Amino acid sequence: MPFSKLGLSDPIITAITHQGYTTPTPIQAKAIPIILSGKNVIAAAQTGTGKTASFVLPILEKLKDNETTRKKRVRALIIAPTRELAVQVDTNIKQYSSTLNLTSLAMYGGVDLKPQKQALIEGVDILVATPGRLLDMYTQRAVHFDELEILVLDEADRMLDMGFIEDINKIMDKLPQNRQNLLFSATLSHQVKALAKTTIIKPVEISVVNKANGPQIEQWLVTVDKDKKSALLSHLINEYQWQQTLIFIETKQGAAKLVSQLEKRGINAECIHSGRSQAIREKILADFKSGKINLLIATGIAARGIDIDNLPRVVNYDLPYPADDYIHRIGRTGRAGSQGEAVSLVSKDDFKNLCAIESKLGHLITRKEIDGFAPKKVVPVSILNYVPKHKKATAKKEKTAPEQSSSSVKKKAKTNQAPLPINPWGNKS
Ligand code: AMP
Repeated sequence: MPFSKLGLSDPIITAITHQGYTTPTPIQAKAIPIILSGKNVIAAAQTGTGKTASFVLPILEKLKDNETTRKKRVRALIIAPTRELAVQVDTNIKQYSSTLNLTSLAMYGGVDLKPQKQALIEGVDILVATPGRLLDMYTQRAVHFDELEILVLDEADRMLDMGFIEDINKIMDKLPQNRQNLLFSATLSHQVKALAKTTIIKPVEISVVNKANGPQIEQWLVTVDKDKKSALLSHLINEYQWQQTLIFIETKQGAAKLVSQLEKRGINAECIHSGRSQAIREKILADFKSGKINLLIATGIAARGIDIDNLPRVVNYDLPYPADDYIHRIGRTGRAGSQGEAVSLVSKDDFKNLCAIESKLGHLITRKEIDGFAPKKVVPVSILNYVPKHKKATAKKEKTAPEQSSSSVKKKAKTNQAPLPINPWGNKS
């Protein structure tokens, strides 16, 4: 089905055609007409499915014939968990609205307030903001919501994981009742549904988390002792000549240490985490995207909003908790219809997280053995119906080392070594 059949008008179609989009992705095909009809929506869609365009395009369609005229007013508000995601969404808005007269702004913390305040004075049609900075601006009376027509909560599960619930509730209280609400989340967990229940009346629920055939992410793991991980990573980088690889690690201290461990073996890498300034993170990200930097080490939170097409590979230097984070991480590869690879280095400390991840996937991840790296502390085979004792998400992951100790999980799992097919583009081959 072409975009024109979804109810989008010519200038918007021209702009997205310019971006190389010819066919809507499944989430776009489902969400765009419903959003255009004015309904509230909650959608389960992972990053990489084209979810941003699925809410941005109908918003543009709805706003395109008018402009914000009053100072400090916004007509659409998109709340995103991280600065990177806010910037990415704003970049997409600017691309998709290149043929329109609408204005947009990304607003996030960690940078000077003044330029953002100044931009708000003129009034912006679409504001993309992180929760903390948004509240701050509201308190300073730099933004008013009385003309707000549409609210989007993007990556809602992540916002809850990061402990933004209070900020979000405070913001909700300030918004006009008469508005359209859209919530996007990689997973519609219990907590996300609870949030939706309090903020979104009678939503249409849509989901495109599918496991159909098509483009695949090939997942494999190597079991290794924790103190041998950096040596194994160096070996894999050299042996397989890995280019453009995003390496996830749990803590910012770990990220910095890994950079120097690789350096000692003659491998150049850069890292981004919450301890680095926004300007440096942006520069490193731009260099990674352009290919100047091959290996980027990132904490999960810092990497959240990264959008890089056709990323060939992601590496999990340690396994994340909760398991949904693993899905988010590997969603960085195999995007926009291309093949990807997700490699995990798993030590016995990662065992509980491995159980949770493989249970979530519903199958075991293929294990590969690398000569010389067989672990002394063997990582047992997971059970596939594992339910973590502490379901509570670790909100401040970057501050602590959330690796969990292993425990006695004795049951044997049934083996299904197929890679996880994540196909954001639906059932078409
Ligand atoms: P998102 O899930 O919004 O992060 O989008 C993932 C990637 O898919 C981004 O690089 C988009 O530019 C790209 N994309 C979104 N919609 C389409 C489409 N209809 N056709 C081709 N690429 C798309």
